[in-house]
Amino acid sequence: MTLPEIKLVFDEPVQRKKTPKHLADYSPQERREVAQELGLPAFRATQVATHYFSHLSDDPQTWSDIPAEMRQSIAAALTPKLIELVRSVTCDDGMTRKDLWKLHDGVLVESVLMRYTDRTTVCISSQAGCGMNCPFCATGQAGLTRNLSAGEITEQIVAAARTCANGELPGGPTRLSNIVFMGMGEPLANYNAVIRSVRNITDPSPDGLGISARSVTVSTVGLVNGIEKLTEEGIAVTLAVSLHTPDDELRNTLVPINSRWKIREVLAAADAYEKRTGRRYSIEYALIRDINDQSWRSDLLGRLLKNRNAHVNLIPLNPTPGSKWTASRREDEAEFVRILESYGVPVTVRDTRGREIDGACGQLAAAEKTRTD
Ligand code: SAH
Repeated sequence: MTLPEIKLVFDEPVQRKKTPKHLADYSPQERREVAQELGLPAFRATQVATHYFSHLSDDPQTWSDIPAEMRQSIAAALTPKLIELVRSVTCDDGMTRKDLWKLHDGVLVESVLMRYTDRTTVCISSQAGCGMNCPFCATGQAGLTRNLSAGEITEQIVAAARTCANGELPGGPTRLSNIVFMGMGEPLANYNAVIRSVRNITDPSPDGLGISARSVTVSTVGLVNGIEKLTEEGIAVTLAVSLHTPDDELRNTLVPINSRWKIREVLAAADAYEKRTGRRYSIEYALIRDINDQSWRSDLLGRLLKNRNAHVNLIPLNPTPGSKWTASRREDEAEFVRILESYGVPVTVRDTRGREIDGACGQLAAAEKTRTD
């Protein structure tokens, strides 16, 4: 008896093209091993890292310590171009610049570079989209597309460092001084790639950019397991916790992951981080009119934080398109600040740089997507 032929029907594979591997994905030791696997002496990895992190060079033809005929292939293997600039928009007389990047598989992410008198900060993306679903955040609305690799995150930082060094911002050449993980994505949900990127920032030359950990801010919705892991890591970055309200009831809706980790647990994890690293942490609080800006909430927040080594960063809400929510009234904002200060809690109101170019919450990538869909 012959069995009927079983026809296997496969769906069109939805497999993503793999992101090419980049030197920035590896530790310094692994980079040397990768070079050897490519049939190169280990020191070539160090030479390429020096060109990449110290000279910020993306032109292998200038890598004069590497034989001319090898430069192209070594660059292609160790520093493939992972992000391609789609467009830049500027405001504040060019002092704020938002870059939209296309990744190898067409996915779009963005970064924002801001020059101040005393520092230049880049705000980078750690994921394409975000899975945290906070209702006031544009990135949250679209869901998570994918994690970025350490190479893709690091490329945003190195591109910003290059822009600064080349004098592309008004005021002439400068040094990139601060990096904040406050672009698209939840950094602690892409833990390994984010930590590798942080090490690429803080490792001294030639292994990294040699920027101090205290100049790096990792902002999280409050993934307690991630904060605990970060505490064990031994890198004293500045931790920012997006709290947005001092009560669990409202936070369950503003930051849905709150149904998994409550405010008390998030603050306990941040306290342990502060104890281990000696670094004061930030509490991010987007002020939303009549939603979370009442004086009783400021009072509750003050009581919650008065004996903690935390600083509150109030962010006037940047309303997403179609949002029913808007920023707080000036007088409510002032009262909110006054009450917090009466508890001795340090508080600042974040400046609203980049508002007119949708600098706060993933809106450029969203706009581009609608245009090209
Ligand atoms: N996922 C991380 C980092 C990304 S967003 C986090 O949530 O912390 C960086 C900060 O911008 C967060 O505090 C976030 O809550 C805030 N944010 C997002 N959308 C905003 C908006 N529309 N207006 C003001 N702040 C916003």
